[in-house]
Amino acid sequence: MAGEPQSDCLFCKIVSGDIPATVVRESETTVAFRDINPQAPSHVLVIPRVHYPDAASLAAAEPRIAADVLEEAGRVAADEKVDGTGYRVVFNTGSGAGQTVFHAHAHVLGGRGLNWPPG
Ligand code: AMP
Ligand code: ZN
Repeated sequence: MAGEPQSDCLFCKIVSGDIPATVVRESETTVAFRDINPQAPSHVLVIPRVHYPDAASLAAAEPRIAADVLEEAGRVAADEKVDGTGYRVVFNTGSGAGQTVFHAHAHVLGGRGLNWPPG
């Protein structure tokens, strides 16, 4: 069923606790944890507890949970104290854009200068 945990999904296993992560925030619908391969001094992933392969499919099926992910991204930025200097929220979508884990996730990056446009 749509949104159900997938046995072969790394981030579903982080949600269930089967794979450890450095969790920085949790809500009823989301989990936020540090990226294992950080691309900035502060690099946190915010994921919905439900499984959808990318942000667009999450937003189409569960718009409130998609909004929760965005709200939590803002809270992470405040917790990490990067909201004052600026931060970036990224949803890589599709392998051509660098998506490697097909469970929707927001990257929250900050703590250094962020070039625009990104590579
Ligand atoms: P993406 O490439 O946009 O799909 O993002 C997936 C992110 O997940 C990458 O930045 C990885 O470094 C990160 N990642 C992969 N495995 C783990 C893990 N076990 N714990 C935390 N982050 C992870
Ligand atoms: Zn999943």
